[in-house]
Amino acid sequence: MATTAPAPGRAAIRLPPRKLLIDGEWRDAVSGATFDTMDPATETVIATVPEPGIEDVDLAVQAARRAFDDGPWATMRAAARGRVLRRFAGLIEDHEDEIVALESLDGGKPVSAVRRQDFPAVLDCIEYYAGWTDKITGDVVPVRPDALTYITRTPVGVVAGIVPWNFPLMNAMWKIAPALACGCTMVMKPAAETPLSSLLLGELALEAGIPRGVLNILPGPGPGAGMPLVTHPGIDKITFTGSPGVGKLIMEKAAPNVPKVTLELGGKSPHLVFADADLDAAVKAATAGVFFNAGQVCSAGTRLLVHDDVYDEVADRRAERAASLKVGDPADEDTYVGPLISERQLDRVLGYVERGVKEGAHLRTGGARLRRPGYFVPPTIFTDVDNQMAIAREEIFGPVLSMLRFSSDEEAVAIANDSPYSLAAGLWTDDVRRAHRVAGRLRAGMVWVNTYGQTDTRMPWGGLGGDSGVGRDLGEAALDNYTDRRSVWINLRARS
Ligand code: NAD
Repeated sequence: MATTAPAPGRAAIRLPPRKLLIDGEWRDAVSGATFDTMDPATETVIATVPEPGIEDVDLAVQAARRAFDDGPWATMRAAARGRVLRRFAGLIEDHEDEIVALESLDGGKPVSAVRRQDFPAVLDCIEYYAGWTDKITGDVVPVRPDALTYITRTPVGVVAGIVPWNFPLMNAMWKIAPALACGCTMVMKPAAETPLSSLLLGELALEAGIPRGVLNILPGPGPGAGMPLVTHPGIDKITFTGSPGVGKLIMEKAAPNVPKVTLELGGKSPHLVFADADLDAAVKAATAGVFFNAGQVCSAGTRLLVHDDVYDEVADRRAERAASLKVGDPADEDTYVGPLISERQLDRVLGYVERGVKEGAHLRTGGARLRRPGYFVPPTIFTDVDNQMAIAREEIFGPVLSMLRFSSDEEAVAIANDSPYSLAAGLWTDDVRRAHRVAGRLRAGMVWVNTYGQTDTRMPWGGLGGDSGVGRDLGEAALDNYTDRRSVWINLRARS
């Protein structure tokens, strides 16, 4: 089994098959094309992977269709499906070190964060949905005495999953686990920037006994692999996580086939600090809330709205704390901020820093690329930001915080809600009445009070529309993505 050449100070990491997983087999692309996946911390090639095109997508969708229509997955006993998924979860648990190392290497994610956050979330997600397989029940509806009227829930069919590079494994599992638990089959397309951990997942899925064709994995570029997948007439359901632009394009291009569509898109989340808040805790949470994963987080609290009375104090403490975060090699256990995923992302982030300065915001700390290999940008804070500036309106997806002021609850809510996004929001106050009042008025699918950034498999996740998307991942709510409700009406009247 191949390993990467260890970079100085790093252990060698076993690589999964560098192939496409189609119909239970590892294959090259029909065209023979390949692409490289890079280590963003060193700008060197980690591995070369087949680049799927329209023919490979078609083979994978056909395999998933056969596995759904003729295979044992949708029709096997629900408890037996749960057993297979628990075996899958067990293998994931057994391979923790390998998964953590690979995810950190391919995505440039600090290894300690992957171990503490991504990996437990991935494992919890598959364990949770493995437990659902035999609990997805229907309803008997009391319509009239001479009829038995009931609703069953059946798997929707073949699911197309597309996920981004910022939480490659976690985002993939948020879709794979509920889809498979419901009895669907799937073609998963991970981002070209981070193909490796999903391929390892595919290897473990086969070992767990997930039947051929049930889970097909085709990492690759969006236009060449993702677009043929979402426009394929054999797809019953699309579940996408990514940028608003691509989400809208997918909705438009897939429309002729009228598939079900869930879109988890972007965020520009407001994080409100009221004057009565526990400032120590707020400053600490606000730091993690925006610089975790180098700011490449859809729910990052990138707009920090602070009450006038404590604005300067919070700004000073935020800058001090940001400067203390260790930026560097993701393989180093002490690293908090790793590199951005790619040169493209680096240019995008630095472009926004330039725009922020031009628009008159005050660059308080950070803002320049580090002089070393890799796409490193240190924690960057702008103060005196106006909500109409690009750095307050647009998703930067990097370690850049915009600090804004408010002087009343009304103004705070108005600024917070003045955004095309609606994914998440946070607020800090010691006044329980204000907490409930403001939480209820913030336009966000998730509101955190006196904490920031917590998620759990059991809690639904998603935006309230606009550029944050539609539908829900996670929780019981995600079962609706992968099941249809069918009504049955049985006439009970005696023959006359
Ligand atoms: P992106 O939209 O460029 O890519 C996401 C996925 O879509 C990738 O797999 C990519 O290959 C694919 N893709 C790109 N172009 C495509 C096309 N034309 N047709 C089909 N597929 C295509 O997004 P990104 O830059 O990789 O990820 C960052 C975005 O993801 C941010 O906007 C972020 O907020 C969002 N995100 C949202 C959530 C959430 O839960 N709401 C979670 C993580 C990331």
